Amino acid sequence: MTTWTYCPECATPLESRESGGRLRPVCPNGHFTRWDNPLPVLAALVEYEGRILLARNAAWTNGLFALITGFLESGETPEQGMARELKEETDLDVERMTLIGVYEFLRKNEVIIAYHVEAVGTIALNDELAEFRLVAPHRLRPWRAGTGYAMADWMRARGLDVEFIDLPAPATRPLATDGTLT
Ligand SMILES: [Zn+2]
Repeated sequence: MTTWTYCPECATPLESRESGGRLRPVCPNGHFTRWDNPLPVLAALVEYEGRILLARNAAWTNGLFALITGFLESGETPEQGMARELKEETDLDVERMTLIGVYEFLRKNEVIIAYHVEAVGTIALNDELAEFRLVAPHRLRPWRAGTGYAMADWMRARGLDVEFIDLPAPATRPLATDGTLT
């Protein structure tokens, strides 16, 4: 999320003014409005040899394992961005990609575009990810937010029972969300 408190052009402190039907931080000299539009985030429920790949971010210490996520680069389609992120983070290649759905993640002002990705190759994590697990689909336990809803919808579509887990506290990093093992 953008966190401008000064105009990026003239460095004047932004003031709260009516703009486009809401109060927003606006440059009083007319250069800039901070719109705070939600940021799209790509998420992949990666199926690899019949199981689902969940990874733990190297910065997380809360034991959560999550979907593969990332941001779009300019000039990419969402599918291209998803394939690139998967390659960068796991060295896997996309064999088939299907949209699961689009989900709110209001807490972080993000919109999640979630795919089911059938992936091939040999798993090799990059530095962002500390470890991974391959989980049988019926053992997935989504949490009640963001990518967890995508995981739950995918499970329901396969006829699996969904058992959510309730986390004690919000994760401190983006999308420390979806999967964990019981
Ligand atoms: Zn300005």
